[in-house]
Amino acid sequence: MLKKQFVIGVDIGGTNIRVALVDEKGNIIRKIKESSGEDTVEKLINSIDTLSEVKIDAIGIGLAGVIDKEERVVKKSPNLPAIENKRFIKDIEERFSVPVVVENDANAAALGEKWLGAGRESENFVMLTLGTGIGGGVIYRGDLLNVAAELGHITVEAEGLSCPCGNNGCLESYASARALVSYVVEALEKGKESIMREAYQGNFYRITSEDIYRYALEGDSLARDSLRRAGKYLGIGIATLVNIFSPEAVIVGGGLIGAWDILAKEAKKEAERRAFPQLIEKTHILPATLGEDAGLLGAAYLALKFNETEI
Ligand SMILES: [Zn+2]
Repeated sequence: MLKKQFVIGVDIGGTNIRVALVDEKGNIIRKIKESSGEDTVEKLINSIDTLSEVKIDAIGIGLAGVIDKEERVVKKSPNLPAIENKRFIKDIEERFSVPVVVENDANAAALGEKWLGAGRESENFVMLTLGTGIGGGVIYRGDLLNVAAELGHITVEAEGLSCPCGNNGCLESYASARALVSYVVEALEKGKESIMREAYQGNFYRITSEDIYRYALEGDSLARDSLRRAGKYLGIGIATLVNIFSPEAVIVGGGLIGAWDILAKEAKKEAERRAFPQLIEKTHILPATLGEDAGLLGAAYLALKFNETEI
């Protein structure tokens, strides 16, 4: 049995694609970050090519979507339709002559946090990644629970906003970075008072979730209210997850956790109000610690583990 030394970890999200050369201890030797879109597969192959300066033993890919692991294709990717039903996994395997392991990106992030991040000490936890969408992963008895875990698509408003997945009122439509931005832009377009109105002079499409957090810190009431609203919905979602899984922790990652202090306060309050008290009092609600590297590190971990110990 050969011990692997270097692998490639990949994280393909709705906004960015990150590819890194990772050693067996989880050190990132070199990383490439690009925007995702129509040419995602091409960028992926070029990045792996660039990073294959040392001999790589396997490739792990975390991606935003529902994966058919038997057929090795992405069946559904609401935030990145460009990778749906493409045979690129097999192509990469053949081109680089190494095994390729594929996993949902939020599952990979959960594994990353278990390996090197906020979940190191927990045997059972739920991970939520607040990015373009909301992904979920469940670590159960120290390993990834092999279920779909589309936790961003649990319903938090019965007749709420329509979601690309086909449902209405999904958590992702209220507490993702994209949902936060849409809410703020819509409020500004309706004439809501905010210092952002002056700052963007009508070009509201330029607003990012990071900007909203910055304006919230400056005391802008629309920015603060929109983050509190996202936090409240996050808490509704967390209450449901706590009632189902009774986890030791709910770990929250993704681009939106820059605003963790505002989000967490509301989320904890709402989750405590709704979940079984005996369960929520034992659950820690924590920010992830690996930042944007959680997904690619989890994918690298899967690549390192491939064929060494049975998953
Ligand atoms: Zn949905």
